Amino acid sequence: MTATAAARATAEALDAADPLASFRDRFVLPDPGLVYLDGNSLGRLPRSTAARLAAVVEQQWGDRLIRSWTEGWLDLPARVGDLIGTALLGAGPGQTVVSDSTTVNLYKLAAAALDARPGRRVVVTDRDNFPTDRYVLEGIVAARGLELRWIEADTVDGPQPADVAAVLDDDVALVSLSHVAYRSAAIADLPAITALAHDAGALVLWDLCHSGGSVPVDLDAGGADLAVGCTYKYLNGGPGAPAYLYVAHALQRELRSPIQGWWAQDDMFAMQRPFTPLPDARRFLTGTAPVLGLVAAEEGVRLLAEAGLDGLRAKSMALTAYAIELIDAWLVPFGFGLGSPRAAARRGSHVTVTHPGAAPLCDALVAAGVIPDFRPPDGIRLGLAALTTRFTDVHDGIAALRDLADSPAGGRRP
Ligand SMILES: *Cc1c(COP(=O)(O)O)cnc(C)c1O
Repeated sequence: MTATAAARATAEALDAADPLASFRDRFVLPDPGLVYLDGNSLGRLPRSTAARLAAVVEQQWGDRLIRSWTEGWLDLPARVGDLIGTALLGAGPGQTVVSDSTTVNLYKLAAAALDARPGRRVVVTDRDNFPTDRYVLEGIVAARGLELRWIEADTVDGPQPADVAAVLDDDVALVSLSHVAYRSAAIADLPAITALAHDAGALVLWDLCHSGGSVPVDLDAGGADLAVGCTYKYLNGGPGAPAYLYVAHALQRELRSPIQGWWAQDDMFAMQRPFTPLPDARRFLTGTAPVLGLVAAEEGVRLLAEAGLDGLRAKSMALTAYAIELIDAWLVPFGFGLGSPRAAARRGSHVTVTHPGAAPLCDALVAAGVIPDFRPPDGIRLGLAALTTRFTDVHDGIAALRDLADSPAGGRRP
């Protein structure tokens, strides 16, 4: 056997031994040749979702019409939220709801947290946080005449507890960070950072977009206050599926949403009374629930719940470890760098490689049937979703990148 064939045989053997391998068949896979390494940006379509959506549209909307609200639709935000919370986030029931986008939820929870810390003037985040997080926080501090205090963390390892401790004081109202960094996949130490912030009297708001469904979050055990995350990445909820938000039991009565919508109202159909928000996380709902997006999200989450978070995490760590092995062997000689933590326990489910020619290399990869993400300035992000990515996909994707780098137009020759 040639070295090339032996390497592919190793990947095939890993697929054959993968206890989650059969889940891939539960997804729509029209192009068997496609190497999709972007399940962390838009997860694949579960087969059950198309049938469920058709049934909801034809029977619930088409036939039952408005009766469907009391026949199940009204409960969707809390029901899907509880499924996400209990199956994936380590959150007991009544603390997670599905509503709006991550961006809007971030705004609602950040504003509520600031209202709960009157007199404190500082919001802390890090320079490498996801753009929408930075923009929302910048907007909130500008509107309120507050200050945004930036953490300058290592771009690979992400913000450490010591980085957070260095900027905390008794003027800090809120610390808002991503649990898994969207570029490097570094996992932040949620319990340690939360404890530091609490010691300083501040609240913490976590963005779970790149951790929900791929790494354990353990919100309740970690003492978390607030969190948001989206359902269209690892949760396979589909484009524009609504996001989730978490508010810990202990804070629910203290916090009020800046958007007082009727879906947050205790007994919403009483209609006449003044605004009295529900006593649980539903007080952060706004208006009419996006039913189709919610049922699609529910189907995606059900698959993850069936696979179980332990199995998902084990497969994800094996996939990213295998990717790093191939990156070291095949890409580093062509001038690539590893833009993700080496220790499996420190990284989520994607791996970023850096290269000065990352942008054109990404375009060439897509043309070759391999879909990663380009992340400026020089990152190629390989998202490895435990339910749908095979070890052979990792092999074929990184081999394609090596072959491109080895072509005359590609990277440096070894
Ligand atoms: C994808 C992502 C978002 C997206 O927010 P939307 O409101 O859904 O567009 C926010 N934060 C992080 C960290 C993300 O990765």
